[in-house]
Amino acid sequence: MTRLANAAEAEGAQFFYDTPAVQLIQDESGAVKGVIGKNESGYIKFNAAKAVIIAAGDYQNNESLVERYSPDVVPFQRKQFNRTADGILLCILAGGRFVPVNHAKTMHDMDAAPMFMTSYPFMALNDEGKRFMNEEIPMESWDLSLIWNKNAEDRGHFFRIFDNEFQAKYNARTSIASLENYIPDYLENPTGVYPGLVDTHRADTLEELAEILGIPAENLIASVEAWNQHCADGLDTEFGVAKDKMIPIDTPPYWGIRQWIRCSAINAGVEVDGCCRVLDANDEPIPGLYSVGSGAGNICGGLEWNLYQGGLCCGSYITMGRYAGIHAATGGLEPSNPAKYDEIKKFWVK
Ligand SMILES: Cc1cc2nc3c(=O)[nH]c(=O)nc-3n(C[C@H](O)[C@H](O)[C@H](O)COP(=O)(O)OP(=O)(O)OC[C@H]3O[C@@H](n4cnc5c(N)ncnc54)[C@H](O)[C@@H]3O)c2cc1C
Repeated sequence: MTRLANAAEAEGAQFFYDTPAVQLIQDESGAVKGVIGKNESGYIKFNAAKAVIIAAGDYQNNESLVERYSPDVVPFQRKQFNRTADGILLCILAGGRFVPVNHAKTMHDMDAAPMFMTSYPFMALNDEGKRFMNEEIPMESWDLSLIWNKNAEDRGHFFRIFDNEFQAKYNARTSIASLENYIPDYLENPTGVYPGLVDTHRADTLEELAEILGIPAENLIASVEAWNQHCADGLDTEFGVAKDKMIPIDTPPYWGIRQWIRCSAINAGVEVDGCCRVLDANDEPIPGLYSVGSGAGNICGGLEWNLYQGGLCCGSYITMGRYAGIHAATGGLEPSNPAKYDEIKKFWVK
């Protein structure tokens, strides 16, 4: 982002940091003519030559909106701050409206262990050492099972247990060496991790693993025994994991990941059209007002994030910003300098 900002500045863009937008300026017809920002010295009025484009993020830190529109997020911690829905509220005050629920959420933890490890149906335990969900549920929906974890200090925490043969058993791409990066204080210089968030553990016995993870050893052992029995029977009588996904935990050393599911983003904002113009109650664009990014539209169309390609929200949001800018400046959607595949493939193709 810093590089993009520097490049824009070199082209003549001006940035006013620490100057949050606090109010839109509208004329008698409702057309948006500018925006007022506030900094340490007071208020600054920005007159819009063409339009105001709002890109102030999602509403995960506005507890009142979260309670009303995404109540399932309430028990979980948030990964962002300052996402207080200022942009969404400014649009609504100017005549816009929220997209209908469901608002897709990204509820993630790709820091405790390598991202690829989230995709295997390892046995999942709550902090009492007991299973609580069907392990085939994808990461993006783990929160829906964890919401029942009422007695936990933080409902986002739970454990996933597997053994040292996980690569062969699950056809896993992650190597033991890369997993070791995620064991707290194990390597002097772990690579590609946030040291404060890594939470993967290894132990020679299940008793030791339980102690490291801080869950009752007798419950963890009983859960592993029951899991292994289900594997032998070919039937998970507790949570219905499919027969081909039930793989025994029997080869030491044993591994445990302490997951921490939190909210990365809520992906829904105000109703916009295909040019990112904010729509009023009659589906008419409010002149001079655009909204882009997580504060605009409903990228997943009311479905949850697990049906949308991972990593694509930044791509979609940057593209929205680009085309809203083009539309505000030209009234059309034709870029003056379209990116050509041959020019940019050097960044992506080896
Ligand atoms: C840990 C983490 C990992 C993620 N991983 C991925 C990933 O791998 N791939 C992916 O696609 N997405 C990922 N996301 C989600 C993605 O980062 C967000 O959905 C995306 O950045 C939202 O973009 P945005 O432009 O809408 O808003 P933001 O990036 O949230 O930017 C909004 C900006 O507006 C500012 N602002 C707020 N109020 C005001 C105001 N009143 N006036 C002026 N400015 C204001 C904020 O300070 C902020 O700088 C991740 C998020 C997190 C937290």
